[in-house]
Amino acid sequence: MTRMTPLLERNEQFARTYTPVALGPAAAKVVIVTCLDHQVDPAIVLGLQLGDAPVIRNAGGRVTEAVTEDIAYLAYLAEQVFASQGPPATLFEVAVIHHTQCGTGFLADPTFRHRAAEATGVPEAALEASAVADPHTTVKADAERVLTAPQLSPKVSVSGHVYDITTGRLTTTVDARYP
Ligand SMILES: [Zn+2]
Repeated sequence: MTRMTPLLERNEQFARTYTPVALGPAAAKVVIVTCLDHQVDPAIVLGLQLGDAPVIRNAGGRVTEAVTEDIAYLAYLAEQVFASQGPPATLFEVAVIHHTQCGTGFLADPTFRHRAAEATGVPEAALEASAVADPHTTVKADAERVLTAPQLSPKVSVSGHVYDITTGRLTTTVDARYP
């Protein structure tokens, strides 16, 4: 018996009617970057199906070095997958989604941040960089971070959005644009 037991039962239900998705470009031509928060599941919030969109999640949905590296790899992979059909003019849009009431917001408070750094061993600067106190501000900064990443393919566009926990509504803060 593990905490996973009920989830394994759900998986059993899922597998009964499952149809595999072939390896290929994601159908929605969008890569989502968002918070790991269980209140913000992009599959549910955006109605994503298997094969629709890769999702990169971390605390806050912040654009870190690891995130830009993943995006670069996904762009390379997308070009390779398309290679037999001739090089595509565009690959996908990176949609950065931050949300209201984010748990990382506590990290904007220096005292909380200091204690969190001591308890977790994560440097205070790293914790500060992950804080989303105002999602409208941080999502703009992070969309910019993707756009100015040196390894970003010119065939990838970037947009920024804020998800409101209270209403369930996503609002576009940064319109999609290419680097
Ligand atoms: Zn969050």
